[in-house]
Amino acid sequence: MKRTIRDLKNIQDKRVLLRCDFNVPLDKYGDILDATRIDASIPTIKYLVNQNCKLIICSHLGRPKGYDKFLSLFPVAVCLMKYFPNKVKFCPKVVGDEVKRDISKLKSGNILVIENLRFDPREEENDPTFVKELASYADIYVDDAFGVAHRKHASNYGVALKLPNAVGFLIEKELKVFDEAFKNPKRPFVAIFGGAKVKDKLPLIKNIIGKADTVLIGGGMAYTFLLAEGINIGKSIVDLSLVDEAKSILDEARKAGMNVILPVDHVALKYDRVVKADNLDADMIGLDIGKKTAKLFAKEIKSAGQIVWNGPLGKYEDKAFRKGTFMIAKAVAKSSAYSIVGGGDSVGAINTLGFTDKIDHLSTGGGASMKLMEGKTLPAIEVIDTL
Ligand code: AMP
Repeated sequence: MKRTIRDLKNIQDKRVLLRCDFNVPLDKYGDILDATRIDASIPTIKYLVNQNCKLIICSHLGRPKGYDKFLSLFPVAVCLMKYFPNKVKFCPKVVGDEVKRDISKLKSGNILVIENLRFDPREEENDPTFVKELASYADIYVDDAFGVAHRKHASNYGVALKLPNAVGFLIEKELKVFDEAFKNPKRPFVAIFGGAKVKDKLPLIKNIIGKADTVLIGGGMAYTFLLAEGINIGKSIVDLSLVDEAKSILDEARKAGMNVILPVDHVALKYDRVVKADNLDADMIGLDIGKKTAKLFAKEIKSAGQIVWNGPLGKYEDKAFRKGTFMIAKAVAKSSAYSIVGGGDSVGAINTLGFTDKIDHLSTGGGASMKLMEGKTLPAIEVIDTL
């Protein structure tokens, strides 16, 4: 069991460095398009404010190469001001005298948000001088940035090794949900996998063999599996180097008694026409699951006891190929099963359709949740003390 903020004693008046994942989408005016990630960290922030800590919050935002005014954390600080009126100050620097001065003036129960960590290239390099600087800001370190927990960066991995530490409520919940779902699943356990990067998804499917009862495979990755079954895939996306591995995973899964269902029809592109097809001919590119497949998948989802879903069932960004993902999102939302959804596109589909409240757990970390589904540990969590 990792130490959580509830286990930290005598923290009032202490300086606490809290690493959040405020990597929120912004429009060109700097307005936050979706504040889910900020909302998700509010319980941890509230707890630490109520404990009268001097709270220093840090996060990354986007992938800046050096300073980038369009990726400032200022809009995030403004959003936090609405939750904590008169308690939040923003420092437009990550390191240096201005940060130190603001921290020295920070009152108990107040919050200082410092600028985007990735404006300093040493963050992603886990550079020891940057780690030392960040660690000097606080007496205690709290990690609530689940979205980057699979990374070894200065502000999560490096700093945790330097200070007394704990995880926040968000990370505590993410770990608990995935642990219970895989160790003690409600049955039938139905896993749904989509997306295009078959190389990234194979370890998930491998780890779920013997744990899930049914696996539904859609999206671009399905074509590598269909080819492994000797089915024509036309010009659809495929990773030829992984066809043999896909075949042995299918064999192993079926040997273990798992029900593996692949697409039986498609929405495809034939030259510049969108067509529906049970069988793809040589000129077709499969870009979404078809209606029959969606119905087949929905039937399994309806009778599930637990659902884990990662990845879109089609080329979701394109209106013509998002119906399959939407149908699956609807089926998952309608199902009475315990549901966990991870990955940007799948979570996006749920939110777009207004099903946010119908899902038991929407994971805040795509990459990190995939590592947990692979049965792996997360480096930034490994370095947090155990109880
Ligand atoms: P991943 O990061 O592996 O979850 O993949 C997500 C991406 O897969 C999205 O950008 C989708 O557009 C893409 N995708 C899903 N289905 C297909 C498909 N049939 N062909 C090409 N790309 C797809």
